[in-house]
Amino acid sequence: MLTLRFHVIHGWKTHSILCSALLAALALCGGMSARTCDAQAKPAGRPPGVAPLPQVTSPRLYVIDCGTLVYNRPEDYQLTREEVADTNMSVPCFLVLHPKGILLFDTGLSDRLVGRPLWENVDEGYGQIKFMTLRGALADIGVTPADITYLAISHSHWDHVGNANDYVGSTWLTQKAERDFMFGPGADKAHLALYDALAHAHQVVFEGDHDVFGDGTVILKFTPGHTPGHQSLYVKLAHTGGVVIAGDLYHYAEERALHRMPKEEETTGTPASRDMIERFLKEKNAQLWIGHSTAFFKNAIKSPGWYD
Ligand SMILES: [Zn+2]
Repeated sequence: MLTLRFHVIHGWKTHSILCSALLAALALCGGMSARTCDAQAKPAGRPPGVAPLPQVTSPRLYVIDCGTLVYNRPEDYQLTREEVADTNMSVPCFLVLHPKGILLFDTGLSDRLVGRPLWENVDEGYGQIKFMTLRGALADIGVTPADITYLAISHSHWDHVGNANDYVGSTWLTQKAERDFMFGPGADKAHLALYDALAHAHQVVFEGDHDVFGDGTVILKFTPGHTPGHQSLYVKLAHTGGVVIAGDLYHYAEERALHRMPKEEETTGTPASRDMIERFLKEKNAQLWIGHSTAFFKNAIKSPGWYD
């Protein structure tokens, strides 16, 4: 039932269900023939009522609320509770509008969690709270899934791919190592359904850094360790300056300040990736945004406001 409800409310691809089941119930189709209703529910271009797509002459970056993780085990990150100001984690998604196209970076917690009680959605010790859908947040900006040129994920853990299947009409920009990890024998079978449609998306597969629009302003930085193909995102903004969105290179800001990381990552690429990003930040005079840090998220300009 939960799945059906989600599709009826949020799925553009289920207009026939929406039209017959929901709109009929709301009497919005009352007096219309089924054909008339169907024509109104399936516009040829943009959906009706969506704000105009913003036009930009330089990159614009949006920080979108894609949920919150209620969590109280900072020990998993080799930090004590006394050392961490807030053990909970924000879960942002990021949208970049560029004159040559639109990039969605991470898709957050699943939209289907909205309105559901916390006890229903505890996964691996993380309670998931979600107040708004990614799809709705994008609509507030004036962006529909069909407008998004590229989808990239920092990595394939469930709190970053919750809505990935909604964006398979975009070109998926992926590290080869992460794609192999996602669909190989080591795949997380419990969460594969969150992103399995990406297997059939149009893809650009690369190893190392990737210049998204070819002008050096938006670059996926290869930062392996947390997962085999983890990547961070550099965005060069005209007024704000350079920003690196860390992904899960760090979770808590205190990890960076106190030089801590999950024990199991000490023997992965994480230490070298962190060193590389620190050098890159200096070289570009850029700031580091740690998405899971509630201190970052609390102070960030949130969508539909933006950075440029
Ligand atoms: Zn994460």
